[in-house]
Amino acid sequence: MRDLVARVMDSRLAALLSQWRRDGTEAADPVARFAAHAEHLLMIEAEGGANRYAHYGRAFAECFGNDLTGQVIDLLPPDILPADRRFMLEFEYGFVRRTARPLWRSYTALFGQDLPQTWQRLVLPAGNGRLVVGAYPVEGTPSGDSAEALLRLVIDRVPVVLGDDGGIADMALSLGAFCDTSRHMAELEVLATRDPLTETSNRRHFEQLAGLELDHARRMGRSFALLALDIDHFKRINDTWGHAAGDAALKAFADSCRLGLREYDILGRVGGEEFAVALPNTGPDGARVIAERLRAAVAELVIRPAKGQMSGLTVSIGIAQLREADLTIATLLERADRALYRAKNAGRNRVVSEE
Ligand code: GH3
Ligand code: MG
Ligand code: MG
Repeated sequence: MRDLVARVMDSRLAALLSQWRRDGTEAADPVARFAAHAEHLLMIEAEGGANRYAHYGRAFAECFGNDLTGQVIDLLPPDILPADRRFMLEFEYGFVRRTARPLWRSYTALFGQDLPQTWQRLVLPAGNGRLVVGAYPVEGTPSGDSAEALLRLVIDRVPVVLGDDGGIADMALSLGAFCDTSRHMAELEVLATRDPLTETSNRRHFEQLAGLELDHARRMGRSFALLALDIDHFKRINDTWGHAAGDAALKAFADSCRLGLREYDILGRVGGEEFAVALPNTGPDGARVIAERLRAAVAELVIRPAKGQMSGLTVSIGIAQLREADLTIATLLERADRALYRAKNAGRNRVVSEE
């Protein structure tokens, strides 16, 4: 087991672990002590029952796009720290504080260029409620050894507790418990960010996701467009067909929009029968083509509620284009809404770009 751990553990983490073993847990300044790893090191302090990053190595800032030094982990927004990852961190930090044992695991995440990358991490107790985490991207392909492959599979799913003998003393969670809890967390995350009827992002989540794209477009000097969509005379549909049929129409509407969008466009339900679409990397002509495509597809929809069949659903769409002064999605959405208002006044079932 000792040999197996040595073969699978990243050599830099192995060096960090042996230094920690040699020098003991207490240190006045753990970051200085493990200075050779500083760029790949986190130091976490307990702060009133919460965790704070007292040191956030540059490698993490580069890979995740944020320098989180000084931030309270528990207060980070979900786009920076998704619920499943949050759960795992909280679990690991609590476990290491309770047991004063090193934890080792690997995780695969999307880093900088949206490439999945696997990192190994080691969580070490550092005295006074402090924790030191070292993490490195794993390089090279594993050998064909099946024991090695199995160990890699295990540390991809559960953190393992390292014993003093250099082997694995235990698993921090049963595989079953880990899978159940993380599935549960993933479900909670979906509930908090999705509109359950149309399965599109809710307003808050839409603004968050689209906001990230807007920041990116501003940084890179790229074009970016926003569509505001409002279904025409939707009240009439409810009045004629009933609320359940109205719900079915909303679902069909969202499905139709999804089909007409590219993978990286973002669709959100921002109000009852109001939706918005963020179009990264899209200029005025492209935005108009996409908006027209959505409008035409909706007009073709045939919806079959419990009784009869409903057709003739239409949508009005306003388009706004990112400008220098736009700092938030809300300002862009306001302008798209003004264009939408003009589309309504001009007779509905049409696309209008801002002036
Ligand atoms: P306009 O063309 O001017 O947009 O007319 P409209 O009737 O679509 O606009 P209005 O804002 O007057 O009405 C929107 C309606 O959408 C009223 C509301 O009951 C309905 N609605 C909002 N959310 C839902 C929902 O989740 N389900 C159903 N069935 N109806 C909804
Ligand atoms: Mg409306
Ligand atoms: Mg409407």
